[in-house]
Amino acid sequence: MKTIDLHTHSTASDGTYTPTELVRYAAQKGLTAIALTDHDTMNGLAQAQAAGVEYGVQVINGAEFSTQYDNISLHIVGLFLPTNSTEIKNRLEYMQENRRTRNDKMVANLAKMGIDINMADIKQKFPDSVISRAHIAQYMVDKGYASNKDEVFAKYIGSHCSAYVEKESLTPLETIDMIKNAGGISVWAHPLLCKLSAKNLEKMTGILTDFGLDAIEAYYCTYSPADCKYVKQIAQKYGLALSGGSDFHGTIKPKLELGTGYGNLSVPYEILPILENLKKERKNEQ
Ligand code: AMP
Ligand code: MN
Ligand code: MN
Ligand code: MN
Repeated sequence: MKTIDLHTHSTASDGTYTPTELVRYAAQKGLTAIALTDHDTMNGLAQAQAAGVEYGVQVINGAEFSTQYDNISLHIVGLFLPTNSTEIKNRLEYMQENRRTRNDKMVANLAKMGIDINMADIKQKFPDSVISRAHIAQYMVDKGYASNKDEVFAKYIGSHCSAYVEKESLTPLETIDMIKNAGGISVWAHPLLCKLSAKNLEKMTGILTDFGLDAIEAYYCTYSPADCKYVKQIAQKYGLALSGGSDFHGTIKPKLELGTGYGNLSVPYEILPILENLKKERKNEQ
């Protein structure tokens, strides 16, 4: 059976494989296609596409956007994103600028707590990455300020800690619109991680569908077979296409494998042509 993985991260965000290493690994694992869906950046896509040609893996241009609705954190993955969309480029630049200001504030807060680190050194350690709390945490571990990243999040930069600074988020509506305007496909990533009641999950699916959502992740690393079936039923009820992937991050999530997730994940190739057709229809509408 041909399998794919439509949710992965590289060193362009908080993964540990470069885009080239990721695509080579996908080829080794026998995956037919992967989407690179880094957080808030498309910087890894050109390299991933080139590697796709070299290793014979179909590479889909994607990105994962963090959004907020009614204090609920919703991740929207965009697939088939053109890298020349001015709207997306401007939005990503704005978000990255926002991250830079926020990172500076968090590092200043850490200084007040006696942690002597600076952004220039962190950037040097992760030169090609959009710097997130995951990188700050890794850097602090490397410098001996904590024994692991969980400790850094628990004591310093978790959302209830004193050095934490809130990140500005997009709304799901503006994100879905932006993806649609660029001719891409929008996917509600890992809906079950929101821990909504069955009633609220359906309500949220209805809201996002009204916003123009195209698809929902029915295959995901943490899902049981029953979870997968449940999300498929919701997709059918709301007329959404299916997507899915491992959310692979490389060695920072050691037991989480590309393609197979925590062992039982298998995303069938058959969902991809359906997403591709939706994309083609979108193009014809424009
Ligand atoms: P940011 O987008 O800068 O807020 O950072 C979010 C990233 O930090 C996520 O992608 C995770 O990789 C990581 N992260 C968030 N919360 C935790 C936590 N409690 N423990 C470990 N890593 C976390
Ligand atoms: Mn991540
Ligand atoms: Mn996510
Ligand atoms: Mn992800």
